[in-house]
Amino acid sequence: MFCLFILGRHYFTPVQSIAQITHLFPELETVMGLVLALSSSGIFILRMAHDQYAEWLSQFLHGTLLCISALWVGCFYILLASGDSRIVFPFAALLIFTALISLYFDGRVLLSFTLPIWLVILVCNFVYPSDLTVLNAVLYVLLACLFESGRRILRGWFVLAIRREQENRELIKQLQSLANHDPLTGLANRRSFHLLLDKAIQRHQQCNTSVSLIMLDVDYFKKYNDHYGHQAGDECLRSIAKCLEGATRSTQDVAARFGGEEFIMLLPDATEQQAVDVAKRIQQNIHMLGILHAESPVAAYVTISQGITSLTPATTATRFIAEADAALYAAKEAGRNQWQIFQTDK
Ligand code: GH3
Ligand code: MG
Ligand code: MG
Repeated sequence: MFCLFILGRHYFTPVQSIAQITHLFPELETVMGLVLALSSSGIFILRMAHDQYAEWLSQFLHGTLLCISALWVGCFYILLASGDSRIVFPFAALLIFTALISLYFDGRVLLSFTLPIWLVILVCNFVYPSDLTVLNAVLYVLLACLFESGRRILRGWFVLAIRREQENRELIKQLQSLANHDPLTGLANRRSFHLLLDKAIQRHQQCNTSVSLIMLDVDYFKKYNDHYGHQAGDECLRSIAKCLEGATRSTQDVAARFGGEEFIMLLPDATEQQAVDVAKRIQQNIHMLGILHAESPVAAYVTISQGITSLTPATTATRFIAEADAALYAAKEAGRNQWQIFQTDK
């Protein structure tokens, strides 16, 4: 775009040297204009297109820049040949720094665009010497130092910005995980469970699919804590959480910690019978764990009680959970270490 600007500017305030180029080599301006217009539209189209063209875009950009660089070299050659070498240095410096600002992040492309121009200035200094050869040589070295330090600074900022971006993404991921997971068991927390339940109910209403819930509670867990200590209690909860995850039918099923020693399982597309199968599996898994519970009046090992309910068309999320809770209460009342299905008439 900058190259187009320089070229376009000439039409409004004609520059003597460019006028000379046009005079000596009239096709060059047309070719330059065409290449710039074609490459600008090509880059625009490829950028608008799908991501799959990213590699093409990179190749196209590289080729275009090489082409434009070669054209500028042609211009400089004409200027030198016409005896006006003074304009070459400032023009070349302008181009080199413009390229630096726009291409600093890709060293390969930057080099392929600027190298021919660097060579032109060198040739301009030593093949067409003027009175100012030494001064020009100093300026050349200064320009090269400025260019390289500028490139390093810009590249440093670029790398830093990318690193910060990655760190931020990582941080957001961690925050999201913290916001949605229970830190003790790693299961979904109550907040994310509610979001998933709302989605499942919505889907149920739209597609009339079945949804089931199992509410679970560890039997006599206070006694367990009192007898074995809070640390052992935490470990027990972690093991139970693993049992719940092990009993899911697919990744669609969600096991969540509802609070304290209470858990909840959301089973989308599960009928009551399928929910009972999951409850059986959970009970078996916990039985197989065989965590000793010396103080439990119902068994020698840790047990759980479960309440099962399936969604009826008019149920809301709050009522759905209350139904599972009522079924769990019934299981506790019936002697614990068992599951009960919610009965509407109760
Ligand atoms: P029930 O069979 O009727 O459910 O009796 P329970 O003792 O399991 O129920 P209760 O509500 O009386 O006690 C729950 C206990 O769970 C009390 C609390 O110390 C313990 N608890 C809750 N959250 C945690 C936790 O994160 N870690 C540990 N170790 N214990 C917890
Ligand atoms: Mg309990
Ligand atoms: Mg409880």
